[in-house]
Amino acid sequence: MTSPDAATTDEAVWDEEVDFVVVGSGGGGMVAAITAAEAGAAVVVLEKQDLIGGSTCMSGGIAWIPDNPIMRQQSVDDSLEDALAHFDAVVGDIGPASSIERREAFLTTGGEMVGALQRRGVELVHCPGYSDYYSDATGGHDIGRGIEPTPYNGRALGPWLERLQPGLAQSVGLVVMTNESRDLGHYNRSLRSFLISARVVIRTVFARVRRQTLLTNGASLIAQLLRVAIDDDVAVWTGAPLTGLIVENERVVGVETVRDGSPVRVRARHGVLLSAGGFAHNAEMRAAHGGNQPNEAKWSIANPGDTGEAMGMAMALGAKTDLMDEAWWLPSPRTGRFGQSTLDQARQRPRTIYVDAAGERFVNESNSYMEVGKAMYERDKTSRAVPCWLVFDDRYRKRYAHLKSSPGRFPKKLLESGRLKKAPTLAELAEMCEIDVDGLAATVAYFNEHAANGEDPLFGRGESAYNRALGDPNRRVHPCVEPIDEGPFYACQVLPGDIGTCGGLLTDQHARVLGSDDRPIEGLYAAGNITATVMGRHYLGPGASIANTMVFGYIAAQHAAAGITFPSPLPA
Ligand SMILES: Cc1cc2nc3c(=O)[nH]c(=O)nc-3n(C[C@H](O)[C@H](O)[C@H](O)COP(=O)(O)OP(=O)(O)OC[C@H]3O[C@@H](n4cnc5c(N)ncnc54)[C@H](O)[C@@H]3O)c2cc1C
Repeated sequence: MTSPDAATTDEAVWDEEVDFVVVGSGGGGMVAAITAAEAGAAVVVLEKQDLIGGSTCMSGGIAWIPDNPIMRQQSVDDSLEDALAHFDAVVGDIGPASSIERREAFLTTGGEMVGALQRRGVELVHCPGYSDYYSDATGGHDIGRGIEPTPYNGRALGPWLERLQPGLAQSVGLVVMTNESRDLGHYNRSLRSFLISARVVIRTVFARVRRQTLLTNGASLIAQLLRVAIDDDVAVWTGAPLTGLIVENERVVGVETVRDGSPVRVRARHGVLLSAGGFAHNAEMRAAHGGNQPNEAKWSIANPGDTGEAMGMAMALGAKTDLMDEAWWLPSPRTGRFGQSTLDQARQRPRTIYVDAAGERFVNESNSYMEVGKAMYERDKTSRAVPCWLVFDDRYRKRYAHLKSSPGRFPKKLLESGRLKKAPTLAELAEMCEIDVDGLAATVAYFNEHAANGEDPLFGRGESAYNRALGDPNRRVHPCVEPIDEGPFYACQVLPGDIGTCGGLLTDQHARVLGSDDRPIEGLYAAGNITATVMGRHYLGPGASIANTMVFGYIAAQHAAAGITFPSPLPA
């Protein structure tokens, strides 16, 4: 960290000069870079890893943008009033991270940003049917407010293609869009799901035949943004970590980084944006800020660069923080690699429940991953629920497909390794898992009694459009609840992993970082998981996190670039 006293603006000490320095090449960073460049700014993006795109590139790539132009083009009703009411109803009063000014900035600018990206050739489509995660709360949207990128031929990037973080679809070998992936696992459950799955397979085969590298999800998003950035002469430096913020007269005027192994000082005439992600993989920071969460940063599937040092540099300058114990939680059955579990979808399907060590249910299992993850930590305060157990019956096994298994078959090694437990009766299963035997028996008896009528009086599972959207699409069964009554029975431990942290620097409606006196630290902006999110402690819909980083990246760039009307000299 460069101390304010040590810094100087003497031109001789700068190795490079630009208008705007962007730290981190995820969604917020790339949107900011092209937005500032379009306004005439000379921009450099510093990415510490050799690969570009951060968690955004690895993600589903959906962005939750209420009342966006794509929804309007398709006559899908929405309004800013509804979206604001939804924030009030779900996020509530959570402090300055989600102040009314920041909510309004997010909501009014989101649609504008989508229009700006479309104008630059970034292709995005609506995700119909992917409901808001609190669809039944005031202002919630059943059809959904998410948009995602269309398949994009990565070969258009030339040599840059090899420099992208591996995308989500790559791991399954299919050219599948995120809103299609809901149907892949249900290909045998409805004609619609079958046809969507067939379309995915045909697209994949065609891409191979045509020798295209069709990217989808977050990889398509980052690839498309990178294409615009390259066209706009944005300099993207990889292997270039932020190592210091340079301050003069209480203003951030530049950064220290490393290029080709040598230290470099870059002057930022109009500001520095920190869009360097959170601290999901920093065990020390998570222990310091996570309260009593039994979380050692081992269960996160965020990109490996999510280690929080840029946040630490801003904190050392006096930046305020909030929501530091919060993350985008992701309950992950322990069947293999986190986030790619064979049983990820199970909790949203019929014939399954989650129970704690007492054998009791504690949450609506079909709710969002954020909600279920939070419930696990909350329950763990009184009864062991980290890990908790997923319990299901043999009819479930016979009926459903998973990422790495077809209906009726689980990979043998799941049972052999002991990760999946199997027993002829629920009592024996409970004993194997050290779950209270009587507790589990009573829970399943009560659940079954009501599930037979498609009801869940305890938690209302299956009542919201969101619950149903991710459940079984076969109309002959209830989408989310059915009795668990056909042995043998199965259980698998579930851990509350995450896809990143979402607490961090407090920023205002212009994405300026706030100092200890609540005033902006001049010249310093932040967007994305490095900030305390405008979503507070909730995940409002598919893409809530990517929307948060993209929209505030866009806002930061516009604010920093205001007044730049001339093309500035570019860094080499
Ligand atoms: C598998 C998966 C699926 C997901 N699906 C979705 C989804 O569909 N919708 C959604 O909204 N969210 C999703 N998420 C979460 C979402 O991807 C992230 O929360 C979001 O992309 C974070 O964006 P960001 O811009 O803050 O950070 P990132 O996209 O992570 O970018 C930050 C970048 O900064 C770099 N960096 C860090 N420190 C430094 C430094 N000191 N110097 C230079 N560079 C640095 C990092 O290497 C990284 O490349 C998913 C996440 C994962 C892992």
